[in-house]
Amino acid sequence: MPRPALIRKQAIDLAVAPNLADYAAECRAFTWDAARHALDGLPGGGLNIAHEAVDRHARGPRADHVAFRFLGAESQRVMSYSELSRVTSRFANVLKNLGVGRGERVFVLTGRIPALYTAVLGSFKAGCVVSPLFSAFGPEPLATRLKLGAGAVLVTTEGLYERKVAKIRDQLPALRHVLLVPDDGEPTDIPGTHALDRLMAQASDTFEVVPTLPEDPALLHFTSGTTGTPKGAMHVHGAAITHWATGRYALDLHPDDIFWCTADPGWVTGTSYGIIAPLLHGVTSIVDEVEFDAQRWWRILHEQQVSVWYTAPTAIRMLMKAGAELARSLDYPKLRFIASVGEPLNPEAVWWGQEVLGRPIHDNWWQTETGGIMIANLPALDIKPGSMGLPLPGVEAAIVHPRADGSVEVIDQPDVEGELALKRGWPSMLRGYLHNEERYRKCFSGDWYLSGDLARRDADGYYWFVGRSDDVIKSAGHLIGPFEVESALMEHPAVAEAGVIGKPDVMVGEVVKAFVSLKEGFKPGEALRMELLGHARKRLGAAVAPKEIDFLPTLPRTRSGKIMRRLLKARELGLPEGDTSTLESMP
Ligand code: ATP
Ligand code: MG
Repeated sequence: MPRPALIRKQAIDLAVAPNLADYAAECRAFTWDAARHALDGLPGGGLNIAHEAVDRHARGPRADHVAFRFLGAESQRVMSYSELSRVTSRFANVLKNLGVGRGERVFVLTGRIPALYTAVLGSFKAGCVVSPLFSAFGPEPLATRLKLGAGAVLVTTEGLYERKVAKIRDQLPALRHVLLVPDDGEPTDIPGTHALDRLMAQASDTFEVVPTLPEDPALLHFTSGTTGTPKGAMHVHGAAITHWATGRYALDLHPDDIFWCTADPGWVTGTSYGIIAPLLHGVTSIVDEVEFDAQRWWRILHEQQVSVWYTAPTAIRMLMKAGAELARSLDYPKLRFIASVGEPLNPEAVWWGQEVLGRPIHDNWWQTETGGIMIANLPALDIKPGSMGLPLPGVEAAIVHPRADGSVEVIDQPDVEGELALKRGWPSMLRGYLHNEERYRKCFSGDWYLSGDLARRDADGYYWFVGRSDDVIKSAGHLIGPFEVESALMEHPAVAEAGVIGKPDVMVGEVVKAFVSLKEGFKPGEALRMELLGHARKRLGAAVAPKEIDFLPTLPRTRSGKIMRRLLKARELGLPEGDTSTLESMP
């Protein structure tokens, strides 16, 4: 049965009054300058993320409020704002005592353990630039990133050091200090490294935050590598203003929330929203050290009484695959707001939230380059499942078409496809790609930042994702976004995941080919293939529906959970696979 095109929101559906109730009024009134005044700032016009996120609360009425609940496989560690302030000051002193100064780069390579959070925030305090890396990276991608970023310090664990870093250490002349976290209990002496715990114990737990300015660099984040070699995007302390505003509007954080951002800080979401934004709002964050497991995740949502949950389409698809019954085996009475980012969220997933959890899933859109959420489905606004939502207050978005002279034409009419662009000037906009000035320049045309994503805006101002410009399929004069085809396939009860590519064809330019993985209980076969081809044709029409469907046990994904269509295509065509440093699994 076709579902309605709209999920209507009424005040009665919302457990608390949303921070943003009147979208139009808030957009008119909002300025980034005013938002900045929600933060303390430092004397002399300074701004430091760690001061705003940690010390500000540690010196105020929220000092004893829980900042983090770190969940291990079997244990749990709770850390208050005042304790977080002390350990991050110790870490900043460790850097200072080692002679590591302002602007130098600190890389962090650990799982989601307390030391990661201490190191990131302590580095901000010390005025250093921090770059968190996925702990699952192999030696090659680590060497590339550490070399490119000229890392002066690396914080990692003993095991990761011995398995991955020791063998590349001689390629890293800029790396002056390696600080090791023991895997269990007592530190071991490993030549050429420091035991972090010992240095922490000797360091003072008070530290005067280095008076960074809003434009001083704070973070180096590598993009996901979905479309090619990851780029190193540089962000500044002033980005905290975006993190604060988006935490307020798009995640609707309220002081008593228990917030769970499931992303790893190796991906920008895990830093902007797994560390900075919730702390700016003084809420309690859940950090789970363990990898995805459907049963465990439902237990966490239930036991930890999570109220706001920020996750990704890939996780939602896996939870859907594990079945509604598992989800319903527990209850989540506190869960009031669910959001997702990273890939297009199929309407099927939005509805699944509504039907199984009693809460729809709110898609939002942003990129490593934007540093924070730009377009979102907001708690008080109706959802059009399949749409990314509306630009946040302070964000000016547009659909643009290129002109021959390099400028862009802003398209005013609704429902026209084009590149999604943002008016420059929001505080968390990237300030450069590391060692790639040319690429950075190409991101802009006049005042517009060009996202590389194709989208359209409807008459109500909602944005709809069409595809990445690299992924769009040109077939017999039609431009086909893979998302539309994937969403139609996902509506079939057998399909767990779908990835769609264009396959070169002499007659029509490209033909649409789909790769699907199946839900539990379904087996690949000719009959199912024909059924899926028929289902897609009925939903999409013959011009857009896939001509070919292949079954795969799982689809290739980045570590941040995105389907790598370029890899599906390279494999299909027998072409070189290109940069696979961020590939999660090799199906
Ligand atoms: P790379 O730039 O290295 O190819 P990447 O673009 O995947 O990798 P990220 O910055 O992590 O790296 O991802 C941003 C991209 O993810 C966006 O440009 C967009 O293509 C996609 N994306 C994020 N959120 C959404 C969403 N809600 N709907 C559709 N696409 C999204
Ligand atoms: Mg990108």
